[in-house]
Amino acid sequence: MNPRWNGQFSRFDLVAKTSASCRSVVRVRDIEIGGSDFVVMAGPCAVESEDQVLRTAEAVAEAGARILRGGAYKPRSSPYAFQGLGVEGLKILHKARQATGLAIVTEAMSEEDVELVAEYADIMQVGTRSMENYSLLEALGHCGRPVLLKRGMTATLEELLCSAQIVATAGNPDVILCERGIRTFETSTRNTLDIAAVPVLKTVSHLPVIVDPSHAAGVSCLVPALARAAAVIGADGLLVEVHPHPEQALSDGEQSLSFREFRDMMDDLEPYLAIRQQARQLRPQLVAAGGTH
Ligand code: PEP
Ligand code: MN
Repeated sequence: MNPRWNGQFSRFDLVAKTSASCRSVVRVRDIEIGGSDFVVMAGPCAVESEDQVLRTAEAVAEAGARILRGGAYKPRSSPYAFQGLGVEGLKILHKARQATGLAIVTEAMSEEDVELVAEYADIMQVGTRSMENYSLLEALGHCGRPVLLKRGMTATLEELLCSAQIVATAGNPDVILCERGIRTFETSTRNTLDIAAVPVLKTVSHLPVIVDPSHAAGVSCLVPALARAAAVIGADGLLVEVHPHPEQALSDGEQSLSFREFRDMMDDLEPYLAIRQQARQLRPQLVAAGGTH
């Protein structure tokens, strides 16, 4: 471990990796995130209708996703953008879980929403704009569900781990970290995927780390390449946006994959997942960046 990192991160005692700590595995029903499986979470940016969500759930499940994503409460930068269906959206997600057996990840935007969202969600998503919403993080500490904590778009990794520590200190050790791209001077992508964040986080923390290539890329054609990078660098999974008709999506259509594109991405990931698996067996510390103790 780089000695600089040690001092920087070790104060986050509940989420920092120590020589004695094991990697944490977050269990959601029969799914293990942070174990040997590469767990794909996929679905629309926003829940728009029952038909849209059910069709997407079936398509992504068939292609190998284990968890359905979809926002019922949408944090949008523009007040003119679609703000989500709220509780109606949560009920649609619930139906999709019953129909397909997929677990559900969906966002809670404020502490007031936490109890209601937790009734429907298997994993509570914290969006990039909420990473520093400390009352929300506190409330998630006792929601009884794992938390998917997305990195703030201008947050350092130290700040991300600070937020993870807040959730853990409030009573919830089941936190999954998500690198979703950060703001830089580059304009050809919506955000810059900080791919180095994955091995850094896996070195300094025992928490699982996933990558969201959709919000990093901002355009669907780049999503499969970023997903492959995530797989070989040792991420524990992906969060990917998929829509039956990306061109008609009410939010983030440009970066959403069609069903066919998602299937192709999953197929094309296979050889990379095989490399990941081989590397884990040969040199666990290579992929896990610091090893499984
Ligand atoms: C999302 O996952 O749809 C989302 C709003 O992501 P982020 O918070 O990373 O922008
Ligand atoms: Mn989105």
